[in-house]
Amino acid sequence: MSSVVINARGEQRVRTGHPWIYRADVVDVHAAGGDVVEVVGPRQRTIGYALFSDRSQIPIRMLTRGDAPFALSVIRDRLARAIRFRETLALEATAYRLVHAEADLLPSLIVDRYGAYLVVQALSQGMDRLLPFVIECLTEFVAPEGILARNDPKVRALEGLEQTVEVLAGTVPETVVVSEGPVEYDVDLRRGQKTGLFLDQRENRDAAARYAHGRLLDCFSYHGGFALRLARQCTGAEAIDISADAVARIEANAARNGVSNIRAREANVFDELRRLEKTGERYDTIVLDPPAFAKNKASIPNALAGYKEINLRAMRLLTPGGFLVTCSCSYNVNEDLFAAMLHEASIDSHTPVTVVEKRMQGRDHPVLVGVPETHYLKCFILRRVE
Ligand code: SAH
Repeated sequence: MSSVVINARGEQRVRTGHPWIYRADVVDVHAAGGDVVEVVGPRQRTIGYALFSDRSQIPIRMLTRGDAPFALSVIRDRLARAIRFRETLALEATAYRLVHAEADLLPSLIVDRYGAYLVVQALSQGMDRLLPFVIECLTEFVAPEGILARNDPKVRALEGLEQTVEVLAGTVPETVVVSEGPVEYDVDLRRGQKTGLFLDQRENRDAAARYAHGRLLDCFSYHGGFALRLARQCTGAEAIDISADAVARIEANAARNGVSNIRAREANVFDELRRLEKTGERYDTIVLDPPAFAKNKASIPNALAGYKEINLRAMRLLTPGGFLVTCSCSYNVNEDLFAAMLHEASIDSHTPVTVVEKRMQGRDHPVLVGVPETHYLKCFILRRVE
């Protein structure tokens, strides 16, 4: 059996419950990239079994702890449990996450369901090697009409893996229609961002619907997720995205849903908020759902400056009594940093706001306690008091 020896710091990290061991804590390797390895501590004790990568900054991702030898049934049982958990959620949606990687104890594996189809991502050498077995299990448990591998994220290149999009089982059509609450979407699983939709915002869209009213501005709209969910209860909705393709999708989705009060436009939100402020526009509900501004630790200060700018402008554009639904999906900006940024934005914009709800990603994307990387999405619902 392949094995890897780690130092005392690595062993300590495993003890705290984190599944990742960094390169600096790996002392000796008797394994090839993609192997399941026995992880041995500094005193020759077996600490557990893990996925091994020979290219990644995270060469070890723990699968099991203790000296019981690893068996594929562990993967099979975890897949079954992950799927069963989602069934118990009784989500009012036909698209949701079935497997959320580390949080389901299946490191670097994502499985999303879009109606009768599954989309999978294997984001490490070890999970890539296990993928045929995973597909076998998914076929047995879910019996999908097709399984698509969206193995095109950049992290695959960092792992020395090919970036591919391919059908691994059955057939997968060009677009798939799914529903999320009252909204229907036409999704391009091969080319959409992530695996097609931002499934992690489903419950935040529902939460926003408790407050949305009047004139709505949906910034960073992508395919219109928030606008489509909220427009019916608003007098009018404007959706902004920098991508022409996204704007076309918003319009197509609005037509599919028979929602006639959404106007979508292609623009940079930073410029647009400045322009709207100058022309004296006011909105009763504003959504800010930008892409991750902080991709790594070094970019945190710039990211915070970016978040602050859009949030303070949005606060100024709000009518008294209006709501701001503001999000960050950068896990490098944790909830405390995000809250502190909102505080500064409130002071600088001279806008008193209250926190009405403090939220995160949906329940099908759970957070593993002790692994902050699995808590990436923050969503605060603020109310401008006056
Ligand atoms: N709110 C969406 C998801 C947003 S994803 C939903 O609920 O589904 C982030 C979106 O921001 C992407 O569609 C991207 O095209 C867009 N984007 C990135 N930078 C932008 C900018 N500066 N101005 C406007 N849109 C931007």
